[in-house]
Amino acid sequence: MYRLRAHLGPGGAEFGHIAFLDGRAEWHAVLSLPSETRFADPLAEMRRRFHTRHDPIPALLDATRADTVLHHDVDELRTPLPAHTVGRIVLLGDAAHAMPPNLGQGACQALEDAVTLAASLRAETTVEAALARYDAERRPRSQAVARAARQAVAQAVAQAARHAGSMGQKVSHPLAVALRDTAMRLTPSRAALRMILRHHAWVPPSLT
Ligand SMILES: Cc1cc2nc3c(=O)[nH]c(=O)nc-3n(C[C@H](O)[C@H](O)[C@H](O)COP(=O)(O)OP(=O)(O)OC[C@H]3O[C@@H](n4cnc5c(N)ncnc54)[C@H](O)[C@@H]3O)c2cc1C
Repeated sequence: MYRLRAHLGPGGAEFGHIAFLDGRAEWHAVLSLPSETRFADPLAEMRRRFHTRHDPIPALLDATRADTVLHHDVDELRTPLPAHTVGRIVLLGDAAHAMPPNLGQGACQALEDAVTLAASLRAETTVEAALARYDAERRPRSQAVARAARQAVAQAVAQAARHAGSMGQKVSHPLAVALRDTAMRLTPSRAALRMILRHHAWVPPSLT
């Protein structure tokens, strides 16, 4: 069990953190930067950018050890693949459908892929038939979730996102930031939750 908080700020900066019930915590920051930007000291850079944010962000950064910070580009497959299998080669997870992290579904979809692939291999008598079944069962759902992840912030902040031309993390114009923040405040939490939970309902295939 955990409690997740996400904070959107100006200049394309999102800060999220999770408090786990066992006392551990994690945080992530998503910045709108040219790809492959790297910092000599990523933690110092995060402290520089986020030290004026509200609690508990500065405290979380102060409590972080520099050698525990990872920095990666966040990429997505904007154009859905026409197939997730080629011959006897099969793609799972981000390799098949890398998506923005807005719905927290990337790893969930990877796990669904894995379970479906195992079930397909068990159900069919040839590898080719199993991979065809896997592709037919998984591609429509995973691509729909990827599409929804791309649209997730835009749904809540349609006006602001249209002006800024991209998803929530990339909103930087002050007017767009204000519109986005207002839209986020006005979005009923139950509606926001429904938007996220809509993609959680999935019944795994039988492995027996
Ligand atoms: C900020 C953020 C928050 C997220 N939050 C969530 C969340 O709450 N819920 C959720 O479900 N998902 C979340 N995701 C998405 C999730 O992290 C990914 O979808 C998931 O890690 C994809 O798993 P994967 O195994 O397909 O790929 P990866 O995790 O990328 O694993 C691929 C592995 O293959 C290795 N590799 C690459 N090339 C080679 C090679 N040639 N030889 C050997 N190894 C190789 C890589 O080093 C890597 O270890 C989040 C992502 C981000 C960026």
